Amino acid sequence: MIHIGPQDFVFILTGSGVSAESGIPTFRGAGGLWRNYRIEEVASPHAWARDPRLVWDFYSMRRSVAASAKPNRAHLALADLEGRLADRLFLCTQNVDNLHEQAGSRHVVHMHGELFKSRCDSCQRPPFADDSGYEAPVQIPRCECGGRIRPHMCWFGEVPYDLDRIFAELNRCTVFAAVGTSGVVEPAASFVAHVRGRARTYSVGPEKPANALSFDECIQGTAVEVLPNLFSVAI
Ligand code: NAD
Repeated sequence: MIHIGPQDFVFILTGSGVSAESGIPTFRGAGGLWRNYRIEEVASPHAWARDPRLVWDFYSMRRSVAASAKPNRAHLALADLEGRLADRLFLCTQNVDNLHEQAGSRHVVHMHGELFKSRCDSCQRPPFADDSGYEAPVQIPRCECGGRIRPHMCWFGEVPYDLDRIFAELNRCTVFAAVGTSGVVEPAASFVAHVRGRARTYSVGPEKPANALSFDECIQGTAVEVLPNLFSVAI
């Protein structure tokens, strides 16, 4: 159990493992969505320049898988924690689904983008809500400026979103917990090293992450098994 006192600031980093028990496959796990695609052909600026049709086929398929998913008890536990800690909780997710929001979390930073948003590939018009599927033969939509509408995703080779805010929160946290993330994808994999020695650090998942040595404690179990009873809060 992680004890949270009145002086604590909590940083939670979630990864695809948190949504696995909602039926959304993880990146590397068996039965992963990614098995039928070569990742560099669908999730990079180069892929978009070469074959935007294939990119939209992939993200349309992911939208349709995520559209029917419901939050699980791990998402609900984190929403409940936000209810108790308010702005002493910072929830940063690598996930692009909206299950944290569906569970009731109100302040979620999606460092890798959001599956149900799109944006122009040319102008600075902000990302907008979009749950459409653009699988062939649907045309790729165009922005008013003439640019093409792309998924609001941080692709390989692009810079994750909100890093200034994320590092400010890492600098002030006293408790850091990574849930359902393999500890491989940077820069998220290095967050724990950034706070180590200053914050209490925990990982949660069925297996140890690649960066396990950086954590004070690796709590073994699935997100749904562990999260509902993980935190004790003294306000
Ligand atoms: P990953 O696939 O690399 O690792 C998943 C981790 O979750 C593994 O450590 C695995 O042991 C663990 N896990 C599996 N089942 C679990 C469960 N029931 N409870 C807790 N943990 C469980 O995923 P990652 O570290 O998040 O990084 C991969 C990238 O893939 C991220 O950038 C993310 O944006 C993207 N992605 C997102 C989603 C989503 O939005 N739901 C789904 C797939 C991939």
